Amino acid sequence: MSCLSAFPSLCPCTISPRPKLLRSLVYASIESPSTSKAGDRRSSTRAPRRGPRKREGPKRSMEDSVQRKLEQFYEGLNGPPLRVLPIGGLGEIGMNCMLVGNYDRYILIDAGVMFPDVDDFGVQKIIPDTTFIKRWSHKIEAVIITHGHEDHIGALPWVIPALDPNTPIYASSFTMELIKKRLKEFGINVYSRLKVFNVRERFLAGPFEVEPIRVTHSIPDCCGLVLRCSDGTILHTGDWKIDETPLDGNVFDRETLEQLSKEGVTLMMSDSTNILSPGRSVSETVVRNALLRHISAAKGRVVATQFASNLHRIGSLKAAADLTGRKMVFVGMSLRTYLDAAFRDGKAPMDPSSLVKIEEIDAYAPKDLLIVTTGSQAEPRAALNLASYGGAHSLRLTKEDVILYSAKVIPGNETRVMKMFNRISELGPTIVMGKDTGLHTSGHAYREELEEVLRIVKPQHFLPIHGELVFLKEHELLGRSTGIRHTTVIKNGEMLGVSHLRNRRVLSSGFASLGTEDLQLMYSDGGKAFGTASDLCIDERLRVASEGIIVISMEISRPKNIIGSPHSRLKGKFKIVTRCLWLDDGNLIGALYKAAKAALSSCPVRCPLGHMEMIVSQVLRKVVRKYSGKRPDIIAIATENPAAVLAQEVGAKLSGDFDEDEDWELDEGHVESFDTASADKQIESNGTATSSEDQMPPSGKPSKLIDIWNSFKKPSVAQVETAAVNPPTEQKENQVKLDNSTKHSSPPTQTEDDQLEAGKGEISTETKAPAKTTKRNRWKPEEISRLVKLRGELDEKFQTVKGRMVLWEQISSDMLSHGMDRSAAQCKSLWASLVQKYEESKKDEKSRKIWPYYSGVDEILSSDKNTITK
Ligand SMILES: [Zn+2]
Ligand SMILES: [Zn+2]
Repeated sequence: MSCLSAFPSLCPCTISPRPKLLRSLVYASIESPSTSKAGDRRSSTRAPRRGPRKREGPKRSMEDSVQRKLEQFYEGLNGPPLRVLPIGGLGEIGMNCMLVGNYDRYILIDAGVMFPDVDDFGVQKIIPDTTFIKRWSHKIEAVIITHGHEDHIGALPWVIPALDPNTPIYASSFTMELIKKRLKEFGINVYSRLKVFNVRERFLAGPFEVEPIRVTHSIPDCCGLVLRCSDGTILHTGDWKIDETPLDGNVFDRETLEQLSKEGVTLMMSDSTNILSPGRSVSETVVRNALLRHISAAKGRVVATQFASNLHRIGSLKAAADLTGRKMVFVGMSLRTYLDAAFRDGKAPMDPSSLVKIEEIDAYAPKDLLIVTTGSQAEPRAALNLASYGGAHSLRLTKEDVILYSAKVIPGNETRVMKMFNRISELGPTIVMGKDTGLHTSGHAYREELEEVLRIVKPQHFLPIHGELVFLKEHELLGRSTGIRHTTVIKNGEMLGVSHLRNRRVLSSGFASLGTEDLQLMYSDGGKAFGTASDLCIDERLRVASEGIIVISMEISRPKNIIGSPHSRLKGKFKIVTRCLWLDDGNLIGALYKAAKAALSSCPVRCPLGHMEMIVSQVLRKVVRKYSGKRPDIIAIATENPAAVLAQEVGAKLSGDFDEDEDWELDEGHVESFDTASADKQIESNGTATSSEDQMPPSGKPSKLIDIWNSFKKPSVAQVETAAVNPPTEQKENQVKLDNSTKHSSPPTQTEDDQLEAGKGEISTETKAPAKTTKRNRWKPEEISRLVKLRGELDEKFQTVKGRMVLWEQISSDMLSHGMDRSAAQCKSLWASLVQKYEESKKDEKSRKIWPYYSGVDEILSSDKNTITK
């Protein structure tokens, strides 16, 4: 668990877990600061994440006159000898990672992660710029980790591969246990490079002699670092508070700080997390006593939730359990991770084997149990959160339980946590939470402690670290108030040069801005995926989720043999799928089909597929924007269908009448078998289309030229449009509508029955009213009756003749002679729909009775079942 947990309770609630904007991007070069310009060429190739941000930094933080002198003085290769380049953790909480160097030799202090915002969909961790670390790997001679919180070690699995293969990694023994486990999970075997250090034992790392010093914090074995070299001494505090009575007895090392002060500290960098909290933080001992009080008072089972990494707290709970005769149970994997690491290190507050297994809790009386669980931030998969839903497979909470909230709500999680506790309240347990309960204390120093250490160390230069920009600036003011003359605030990517001041009367501050590095955030989505925001399509995730997506496939047939004809048009079979879009009961889909058809027909016959995709995409985007104000992503995929063209040519030769304008116009929609039934299947509530099989001609033999011809020659756009405007409707609704239609002695007007009524010949490129099917296209009842009659008369021929289109032509001409202008394809298409309707009506007695064409169709189909699909 991250030390983010240790936010001050007085933290302003406006603080977001991570700045929304891209950190300022400028270029750094120690050797040639003159090349440092905002908007380095590399930045132009990167998709900016959420806009640029106004640059702030050392040049703003220091007096301009001094700054100008410094730049002159330190120009060239002999710049200030001590260098600091934060890669993460400044201006944000989390992702602590910093290069500290002597001239061009560096060590990397910490390699932590940051947790994502809610709008970083699917992102689990945000990692410092490993591409930059890789670029500088030849200058980075060691990695030193201050302590085992995720915001200090979590990025190691990505940072280590970016380093040179022999770079050592230093950490205290408990921290190293955590690191080893993490690296093992990632399959990174670098054990020979892992070096354990002890506090007060100096070792060489890169250009520095490093001395780790003990600081107190909310996880065991935390260190500050003293970095010495011939050019000065740097103190990096790590995360710290002053716990006067730490549970593990490892007290905050004031003595070393006092010695350091005498020795002279060139630069001090200190944790700013709780700068806004006045007074002093509370000791873990106080929390231990509060826990004991509450647990002793509880009559039933006690469920305590805390941050898994706080082993001091585990120790307090263990002590309370022992004193009250309760057995401890861990619910939540990460609790064991930290306890096991401490156990391996020989410093665990308890033996992990003494824990009662969760499966065995029923064997104990509730008053004999103390359950420790994670999920204090209501993380979706955490045990306490699952328990709040009362699920059978999780921890079951009862009215007799007492919940002890031994944590704090991290800013940004308030709503989620409150919702979880509302659910828990409903289940009935007593909840003990809030500041007055004394159940939690921060791991970070409050203002008075920060001031005390500044006064002890009295550094020449002070740089606040570990915190939001507002914290850093406030900490800087505190530093000045203690008499430190040279303070500054920098942000990630800004390199600071520092010189030890031998003569305090020197005009110079000893600070120098050495430029800024164009850093980028790296993202991990928890799986294999790792990369920049654009690599992981972070913005696209948000856009698709909020604006939707449309996929349109177009099978294009070009009218090759009528080039030059004023009527020649591109034709296509379309299939549209949408996600995350309001479809307005299918009306939007209808509009999209029409618009796509119109857009395609506007393309030159010989234009490349890419052009068609672009034009159709643009038009669809406009349609949606006009329709619902959304700007969805459009993916248009056009493919050529030479077979269709061939079929048209053959068909044209056969019929000799292909070049009527109407044919081309009408053909642009969909295969005729895209009838209402299949269309209903195609357009699911989420806009998904089913497989293309549904679009095959009913004969199932698309390879036959005549069938292909048939599938293209005459349209069924209106069918599809009709289908599109009528999403799946429940049978009941259909029945009601069928009833109505019967009453009015006209065919039904909705859903499937639109197919039977709506015309199939007319194409409209209008997108204004996609829902309304043009009335003059509808099949009139007498037309349908006529068709059924004619189809019945020719049924025997339909069973034997191979080129059935000829028969449909015959039906078409017969109808024309009766004043009914219906093409062969239209007739065939309607018949397919009638067959479909018939099949469905067969199963439903009511609709059998009310559907006026049932008996007519039944007469034909019952004579030979094989005709169903013809
Ligand atoms: Zn931290
Ligand atoms: Zn920490």
